[in-house]
Amino acid sequence: MADPVAWAAGLGLLGAILGSFVATLVVRWPQGRSVLRGRSACDGCGRTLGGLELVPIVSFALQRGRCRSCGAAIDPRHPTVELLALGIGAASGWAAPGLEGVAGAVFGWLLLALGGLDLAALWLPDRLTAILAAAGLAAGLLGVEPLLADRLIGSVAGFGSLWLVGWSFHRLRGRQGLGGGDPKLFGAIGLWLGWRLLPAVLLIACLVGLGVAAWRLLLGRRVAGSDAMPLGTLLALAAYPAWLAMILMSG
Ligand SMILES: [Zn+2]
Repeated sequence: MADPVAWAAGLGLLGAILGSFVATLVVRWPQGRSVLRGRSACDGCGRTLGGLELVPIVSFALQRGRCRSCGAAIDPRHPTVELLALGIGAASGWAAPGLEGVAGAVFGWLLLALGGLDLAALWLPDRLTAILAAAGLAAGLLGVEPLLADRLIGSVAGFGSLWLVGWSFHRLRGRQGLGGGDPKLFGAIGLWLGWRLLPAVLLIACLVGLGVAAWRLLLGRRVAGSDAMPLGTLLALAAYPAWLAMILMSG
């Protein structure tokens, strides 16, 4: 039952399939296009895809990133997100074979969608954040660690701390420093990780953000406050590895 390799393979496979949907969500939702049927048609010519063309990751590699009829480039975000979702599923299943791993994979896949949308469109849809929060609450109710009380304190601490930062920034500078979705996302993350890990998540998010800004500076790109990596993406990037570290250190 608790075979890490089998769980990693199963959740990895599921991740690749769900990743195909998550990628479509990230690419199409900001454009207001339907995402319900996944990447079922070419973005270039609209031809319905079939057979091998629907297989995540493999199809992109076989077709060398292009549509077979019109030659239009397939958005590289499709295979990237599919690979990340596969990795999240595999890592979760391997680190925590069983219900806990399934919960961790769901956490990672939802973070992938939210982080991707924030990166693509500076947008953290409330509906998606609410699903993340509800799933975290459900995991706690099912008895998955951390305890429900830690999760509830985490949601209040996460939302409250970033809301306060945003409010102070607005008072001091007279403009919006944080997106309205960031405190909600951090609150939802608190519902998954509990309050203890939140300072580490915020610290890692800030360090990664600084690292990315420094890297762009090294590459000679101008760094302006406006083209910094979105905080939601950074929080998502930090939160899943934090979950993984929590599992590996507790087991
Ligand atoms: Zn095409």
